[in-house]
Amino acid sequence: MRGNDFAFRKKKRDEIRIEGLEVFAHHGVFPEETKLGQRFFVNVVLYTDTREAGKKDDMALSTDYGRVCMEIHAFLTSHTYKLLEGAAEYLAEHLLCRFPFIEELELEIRKPSAPVPLPFASVSVTVTRGWKRAVIACGSNMGDKENYIREASRKIEEDEKCRLISSSDLIVAKPYGGVEQDDFINGAFLIETLYEPEELLAFLNRLEAEAGRERIIHWGPRTLDLDIIFYEDDVIRTDKLTVPHADMHNRSFVLLPLVQIAPQWVHPVYRKTAAELLGMLQEP
Ligand code: ADP
Ligand code: MG
Repeated sequence: MRGNDFAFRKKKRDEIRIEGLEVFAHHGVFPEETKLGQRFFVNVVLYTDTREAGKKDDMALSTDYGRVCMEIHAFLTSHTYKLLEGAAEYLAEHLLCRFPFIEELELEIRKPSAPVPLPFASVSVTVTRGWKRAVIACGSNMGDKENYIREASRKIEEDEKCRLISSSDLIVAKPYGGVEQDDFINGAFLIETLYEPEELLAFLNRLEAEAGRERIIHWGPRTLDLDIIFYEDDVIRTDKLTVPHADMHNRSFVLLPLVQIAPQWVHPVYRKTAAELLGMLQEP
């Protein structure tokens, strides 16, 4: 795991660009396209931090654009997508998972021979994808509580669309919400993820279900509770998701672990750091 400072250093916007990489492949909606194939051209901008690699003039500290080209070629020739959107989406994800120094990328796939019955130069789809920072709070108050949380952290670490950057210590906390039940163990994880917020929630809900969680009483006992506390600077209010978590600033069992892993994270609505929110919290 990398240190906390990693998550808070400003993202670098150095660029490595690959332009006009030609790949003969078989993507398309029409049967002739998947049968005969055609030329595709790929442009990609890799956003990364080249400073250390540059200063030390060391390839091991950078992303090898030759390998990136080979990987793009191998990917586009070994998969078949109907849409340029599909090819771009999955190729972007593949490159972000495969090359750890790429923080974000902009990927364009052009199709100059697309079946359009009019004269035209080319069509293309461009996507921008990257690793997003998030904080997850975890809690358990049934069964082998520590083990449920350990398992959750292992599964987050193992998921290729998540990177566990750091974990807080686990604390013991009194139950919240007025339901008579066992004490909780709580903690927090700082992660980077390729999931969008709704996808991250679905992933966390799956981990809760795998821990045998049943939703019977609101705020009742649970084997595992995983909540999204922060997702970048996003403010989200939908039926399924409120981010930053609606009640986090009132809960010491969220703020104490949070302050261990991300004290300087600024709440995008209250404009206070995690450490300031904890300082403001008046325990009853
Ligand atoms: P709580 O975590 O408040 O004790 P639950 O874990 O039972 O309650 O979650 C109830 C619902 O809260 C979930 O189905 C989810 O859709 C919704 N929810 C809203 N915002 C969030 C968030 N930031 N993180 C996790 N769940 C959330
Ligand atoms: Mg929850």
